[in-house]
Amino acid sequence: MSSQPKTPFGLYIHWPYCVSKCPYCDFNSHVAKSVDHDQWAQAFINELTRIHQESAEQTISSIFFGGGTPSLMAPQTVESILQTAQKLWGFSPDIEITLEANPTTVETDTFANFKSAGINRLSIGIQSLRAKALTFLGRAHSLEEGFRALELAQKTFDRYSFDLIYARPDQTLQDWQDELTEALNLSAGHLSLYQLTIEPGTAFYKEGVPSVDEDLGADLFDLTQEMMEKAHMPAYEISNHAKSAQESRHNLIYWQGDDYIGIGPGAHSRLSNQAIHQIYQPDLWLNAIAEKKSGEQKRKSIPTEERIIELIMMGLRLKEGIDCAHFKSLTHQGLKDCLEPEGLEILIENGLVCWTETHLRASPEGRKCLNGVIEKLILV
Ligand code: SF4
Repeated sequence: MSSQPKTPFGLYIHWPYCVSKCPYCDFNSHVAKSVDHDQWAQAFINELTRIHQESAEQTISSIFFGGGTPSLMAPQTVESILQTAQKLWGFSPDIEITLEANPTTVETDTFANFKSAGINRLSIGIQSLRAKALTFLGRAHSLEEGFRALELAQKTFDRYSFDLIYARPDQTLQDWQDELTEALNLSAGHLSLYQLTIEPGTAFYKEGVPSVDEDLGADLFDLTQEMMEKAHMPAYEISNHAKSAQESRHNLIYWQGDDYIGIGPGAHSRLSNQAIHQIYQPDLWLNAIAEKKSGEQKRKSIPTEERIIELIMMGLRLKEGIDCAHFKSLTHQGLKDCLEPEGLEILIENGLVCWTETHLRASPEGRKCLNGVIEKLILV
């Protein structure tokens, strides 16, 4: 029987395969000639059953299928995972269950099958509404496939979001303004808007693709905030924008420091102040579950000081900031006592952070230079 959880508790499932590797991507994603879907389904179920033993008192409030491209999973695999998770932990009545999808994997029935399997929210990797940019980003889908995926999502799901990458080389403010205006017309109340970053190890990095000029990047960010505020979809986190009540509840679990479990290659969990990492390589993860009955690579207890820094770093990404009462319940310490007093004073004087009655919050200006803000706040 389902019951309302005391605090949010999330489940993340990592599907590590994609149809091709995008040149900017540094996620744990791989291209495989063939995948044994039955073996993967069984491995996920075995891992869920194993890790349930140390979190049996929880009730799941959100599930996120990420990757890779989890819309390449067999819908039956998704269904078996959800049935197993519900049987083991139980679901809260308003559970959010999100699947990341790429437009190339959409056939007429695909979304309907995932909905029947239990998915109630879709996050679609559209990335751009310009054909030239899709080619530059090495995306496997065409513009038409992107539009079709959005149309099908709208017909099938009450809640869906899509991602766009901006601050691409050669993109002007006017280009982005036009593209974002179109995106807003297609949106269902949630958009994830990321600036292109060139990460070490990616094909773009090796090819020397330049990052956008710093000043233009800042102007593009400001334009984004302005347009999204006007559209009543402000940033509730640095790159995530939503209408009221359309926020991704799953991501809020990470940023607010609540517990979650991660299953699948490279996934990690936070359980009762422990950081648990799963084996990174897909084949090794599968073999370990078959042979050792566990996909876990390592775990460690998180020292209180480390936990405090993590909560400050994650919490200040959020528009609402860090809830002092929640912080205390997680660390048994007052937030103010954990901050560097002089740094805090300077940041308040400069309008970069502020206290409300219940929260410590970074201002919009403060969120733009968050690393510097955090450095000043943290007691070392
Ligand atoms: S589809 Fe997503 S996860 Fe897969 S390679 Fe491209 S960016 Fe990475």
